Amino acid sequence: MVILMSNVITIQDVFHQFLPKYSETHLFSSEQHMAALCISKCKTAEMGANISECESCHKKYIHYNSCKNRHCPMCQGMEVDEWIDKYYISVIPTLLGNGVRLLGNIDREIKLRLCKTQTYNGITDLIYMRR
Ligand SMILES: [Zn+2]
Repeated sequence: MVILMSNVITIQDVFHQFLPKYSETHLFSSEQHMAALCISKCKTAEMGANISECESCHKKYIHYNSCKNRHCPMCQGMEVDEWIDKYYISVIPTLLGNGVRLLGNIDREIKLRLCKTQTYNGITDLIYMRR
């Protein structure tokens, strides 16, 4: 069961909920491990923060830092269709509620060509190139 603070399930929610237990029984490549850690911590206190203050009311706002990992949909999702020519999509064999959006909102079609698939420890990597 996924515990949510809002109506939208993010990949970060999934990682917080399932990654610790999943990691006990499955191996990750170093790149997958780093991406999972970055996405888990992106825009949280663990990444550090900046504080700004409204000049009018002096209310303070906390802005948590982004992880800047190229796989993170929370901080890279807006730019993903502009600068990525190659997509690595890892499929973890777990089904969840209404699905999790990988790339945020992309307002145009991006045509891809499947180049390679690889499977290990139940995780399937799909590697696509932009057409
Ligand atoms: Zn991020």
